[in-house]
Amino acid sequence: MPPSAASQEKRNIVIVGGGIIGSTTAYFLTRHPFYNPSLHSIHLIEAASVASGASGKAGGLLALWAYPSSIVPLSFRLHEELAKEHGGEKRWGYRGVSCGQLDIKGRRLGDATAGGKGNPPAVNPVHDEAKERISLKKRSNDSYQAHQAAGVPEDLDWLVDSNIQSYDSMGTPENTAQVHPYQFTTSMAQLAQEKGAEIILGSVKSINYKDNDNAVESITYMAKNTNTPTTVPTTDIILTLGPWTQSLLPHAPISALRAHSITIRPSRPCSAYAIFTSITLPPQFRPGAKNKRPQHVSPEIYARPNNELYACGEGDTLVPLPPTSAEVAVDESRCQDIADYCSAISDELRDGEILTRQACYLPQVESRAGSGPLMGKTSIKGLFLAAGHTCWGIQNGPGTGKLMSEFVFDGEAGSARVEGAGLDPRNYGL
Ligand SMILES: Cc1cc2nc3c(=O)[nH]c(=O)nc-3n(C[C@H](O)[C@H](O)[C@H](O)COP(=O)(O)OP(=O)(O)OC[C@H]3O[C@@H](n4cnc5c(N)ncnc54)[C@H](O)[C@@H]3O)c2cc1C
Repeated sequence: MPPSAASQEKRNIVIVGGGIIGSTTAYFLTRHPFYNPSLHSIHLIEAASVASGASGKAGGLLALWAYPSSIVPLSFRLHEELAKEHGGEKRWGYRGVSCGQLDIKGRRLGDATAGGKGNPPAVNPVHDEAKERISLKKRSNDSYQAHQAAGVPEDLDWLVDSNIQSYDSMGTPENTAQVHPYQFTTSMAQLAQEKGAEIILGSVKSINYKDNDNAVESITYMAKNTNTPTTVPTTDIILTLGPWTQSLLPHAPISALRAHSITIRPSRPCSAYAIFTSITLPPQFRPGAKNKRPQHVSPEIYARPNNELYACGEGDTLVPLPPTSAEVAVDESRCQDIADYCSAISDELRDGEILTRQACYLPQVESRAGSGPLMGKTSIKGLFLAAGHTCWGIQNGPGTGKLMSEFVFDGEAGSARVEGAGLDPRNYGL
């Protein structure tokens, strides 16, 4: 049957997981030319609350120099178009930013004169380096090496400039932008709802198959409020579970990496820069600490509109992925580490106020078949996957949502080349 004929039939479409990928998929399904609310039901089932995982706690950097190159240009453009259409500048903080790599010497905590609200020095935890400091890998070697060394821009004036060793520009407001990921994701879900998608709070427990397990038949979820199992018939299921993908698709090569972050209200507004830092901390960085060698740390620090700043640290594998995003353990000392590193290089951050201390899990792809993200059809009729977006899921969210709407209604992706580009789930044995 041609895909256009299939779109004239009744379809029960269920999206599982209300992060950015599920929410943009719901949004673009409701904007697809074949979408007909009297024929097509769209349900988004989310276990905790929309954007309660990484999609609400990420940095929100967007870049034309991100990866994979097969979908980045599409998604970067869609971010710009969505912001224009729905007032994203105000609604979710969309704006162009400059971006750079900064090498800087950090001050000893005791040497930083003013105290800084809510920033007491952290207690030194016991370290297991292999598990504790895992790069989120936002910079591919190619993109980093391609950027030439430059002087520190004049308007980047919220760092202790006498300590700066080098600054290499990586992006300009023309090829680099940002959104507030929580605001963007919840807006996408709400805009999808306005066009007929329904959001259900509940945890999906099983996908039920027919035809010798070759086609989807229904889905069973536990409603969040009543905790009663409900089974709904489905023609199409799109799994957008990020790091939880293996809970419903055990063979998916997607693992989880925990990462902490904080938001700060700086003592004065900071200019629009996203900074990848490499900070050399002096020996005995913390008062009373015994370490005699300098230590290198590399938080990412993004100034946001509305006098807010986001900073995240490296990932760790110390605590396995919990059953839901509501149960993610936040290690206060790791949040304090990030705050201290910020204090070591900026008066504005040292003297600011910490607003949020949080943690979430990044979906990672570990496979010889490719580095993902995985998106498109699986070998089971009616079962689609869009997951494993690693550290660029906010950047690649709208592109993924658009392509998934094409897979469902057109039978194939038209806006970008996905099949054969290392993204096809069937290449990963799914
Ligand atoms: C510290 C950090 C900083 C980042 N910064 C950036 C950045 O600057 N730019 C960028 O592009 N990307 C960034 N990322 C990456 C980005 O956040 C992720 O790639 C993206 O959020 C993944 O989205 P997702 O929708 O696939 O997964 P998630 O956001 O994890 O959503 C999955 C959802 O599925 C739900 N779920 C789980 N199990 C079930 C179930 N059984 N039934 C129903 N629902 C279920 C969960 O509750 C969750 O809401 C960052 C990530 C981290 C960790």
